[in-house]
Amino acid sequence: MKHVAVLTSGGDAPGMNAAIRAVVRCGVSKGWSMFGVYNGYAGLISGNIRPMGTRDVGGILNKGGTILGSARCQEFYTDAGRLKAIRTLRQIGIDALVVIGGNGSQTGSYELHKLGFPVVGIASTIDNDLCGTEITIGVDTALNIALEAIDRLKVTASSHQRAFLLEVMGRKCGYIALMAGIAGGAEYILIPEVETDPEEVAETLDLAYQHGKEHAIIVVAEGAKYNAEALINYFEKHRDRLGFKIRATILGHVQRGGNPGAFDRILASRFGNGAIEAIDREDYGVLVGLNKSAITTTPLEEVVGKTKEISMDMVKLARALD
Ligand code: ATP
Repeated sequence: MKHVAVLTSGGDAPGMNAAIRAVVRCGVSKGWSMFGVYNGYAGLISGNIRPMGTRDVGGILNKGGTILGSARCQEFYTDAGRLKAIRTLRQIGIDALVVIGGNGSQTGSYELHKLGFPVVGIASTIDNDLCGTEITIGVDTALNIALEAIDRLKVTASSHQRAFLLEVMGRKCGYIALMAGIAGGAEYILIPEVETDPEEVAETLDLAYQHGKEHAIIVVAEGAKYNAEALINYFEKHRDRLGFKIRATILGHVQRGGNPGAFDRILASRFGNGAIEAIDREDYGVLVGLNKSAITTTPLEEVVGKTKEISMDMVKLARALD
């Protein structure tokens, strides 16, 4: 019989609760004792760890955020902090830890693994920038929220012959901007990975106006060199030649908070089960992910310190559809 703890760390993502539920229930179905760690790595260090049974994870499948709480924990960046966390885990008698989170969180779990503690990571971040998985928990829901915003902006944009700039999350990774832009029929998409001349954006808007379009949508990732604010400033200087009136909307944290959609609930349930199966076969120091429709494990050493690159085929597709 194993004693297994689960925590969520880093930015919350819709579907984290579904993953916690799956980890706890799949563990219980094996006859194991399950524990929840509160507030990410901070809770590991302070010992904020409580037993969790099947009922404790009831009614959370459809909820965004994370019932365990998440935190960004500075102390965990230090050897002393991590050793304290391992001491706490050993005192309580935890045999293995499941870490649900993104790039930073999995770097933390890899550090625990290197110190000899059995860990399994679950890929969860709305950025979809983790290596070792084609998709992470939360991306699909966040994408659909961005898409709904585009659809709504198009309606109001058409009524007033406006162009809208929609800024979505993605400090280093343009995945959500690119995919939401393609799905929402954006005129132009700006992402951190591709350098863009704002003049090209202005020309696209010009052309759209001349062709008699009633609206135009530009999707911008927050980390693009020309984010919404920079583009508005640029357009301000070229106002005379732009037919459209330009407005900016910054979606911000609205993207994180939604209830997870079916895709994220199922993905999180599969990842949770995948983590328990990995622990059962003592496949430690790995990230549970999705590759070619199958649940896989990838060694954390192949995952951390890297950022998954955006698909240039998708960038080309977006250009072709402009
Ligand atoms: P997201 O990308 O969705 O915001 P994330 O998991 O990448 O999520 P981070 O804030 O980067 O979020 O990391 C979460 C926590 O993981 C940090 O506060 C820290 O406690 C731990 N962590 C991150 N990087 C390291 C590291 N290099 N060594 C040890 N711990 C780390």
